[in-house]
Amino acid sequence: MLKKIVSLFFAVCLVLFMALPAHAAGSITVKSSSVESGFPNSVTFNISAISSAQITDIRLHYTTEQLGFAHVESEAFVVFTPSTSVNASWKWDMRKSGGLPPGAVITYWWTITDSTGNKLNTSEAQFKFDDTRFKWLSLTQDKTTLYWYNGSQSFAQDIMSTTQNALVRLANDTGATLQDPIRIYLYANNSDLLGSMIFPQDWTGGVSFTESGCIVIGISSSNITWGRTAIAHELTHLVTHQMTFNPYSGIPTWLEEGLAMYNQGSVDATFTSALQNAIANNTLLTLKTLSSPFSAYANISYLSYAESWNAVDYLIKTYGKDKMTQLLATFQQGSTYDNALLTVYGKDTKALNTEWQATLKKPAGNTLSSVPMGAFALATP
Ligand SMILES: [Zn+2]
Repeated sequence: MLKKIVSLFFAVCLVLFMALPAHAAGSITVKSSSVESGFPNSVTFNISAISSAQITDIRLHYTTEQLGFAHVESEAFVVFTPSTSVNASWKWDMRKSGGLPPGAVITYWWTITDSTGNKLNTSEAQFKFDDTRFKWLSLTQDKTTLYWYNGSQSFAQDIMSTTQNALVRLANDTGATLQDPIRIYLYANNSDLLGSMIFPQDWTGGVSFTESGCIVIGISSSNITWGRTAIAHELTHLVTHQMTFNPYSGIPTWLEEGLAMYNQGSVDATFTSALQNAIANNTLLTLKTLSSPFSAYANISYLSYAESWNAVDYLIKTYGKDKMTQLLATFQQGSTYDNALLTVYGKDTKALNTEWQATLKKPAGNTLSSVPMGAFALATP
């Protein structure tokens, strides 16, 4: 009896042991698996496998960490000649799919099938898509991690203080706070920054990956004043995105950009004079127009940003922080633009526009004189 129990125990162990490893199924065995980074343009996944029957199908499955309601899993079909011994690879060309920020974590696994129907799923593995051209240092405070490779600890601390001050200012004035951790990559200059981008434009000062909660920016000691402003602006976009993200609807551009401008801490004269000229010439754009993406024409674009800043400033000063918090929460429910404004302020876009623009046209007008700023060129991929 004891002998029977012991042999049964070993039989169960053997079955468990055979079921546990993920790298062999039936007669399929993975000899090796590796990943090569071609940052920022590509990642190549390699696999080497053997089987007693011909391997006929190999697929790579992968996901990246992104803010979202649906778990998005991608599947790539690997092209190879069926054989009992296969070395195959698949290149993820990000020039076609769009890029990932530095430090993005890719989770991947393989599915291999042979001609007898054996199927092997490898266990999940992770690959960090780093910009290995530089030796990165890091600094973390609460939910923000800063990565940099050039400049002293006090330079990084200066930028970290800027981000923390911007977060406090935003929370105090709008109630918006970071929900998830974010990363900020500080490149030492523009050419280093452009080397991290897939289709670099010379004018780009940085890129914001809102879905990944990541800001990538070039800040040198000569443009640190601009850098502080740009970081506060982009940080606000990340917070606003986290606060309002839903599967149904976005928020109007004037609110999105207006909050970012409001929270910069300073606004450049180019914007204030664009606003003053439009008031004087009666050429103000309406909030309805500013609900859509802004014009690419520089003069209209400056005016769009300036008006958006002023409209948000008006809403916060007139109706207070709690209403702004409520507005963001209403958008997070997937509300339409007009319904959200009606729910919170009792006015739709058109009525709010009339009320706000009437205050601009009064001679004693809004507080235009108190607006500083720094122009910046940040792109969203
Ligand atoms: Zn912006």
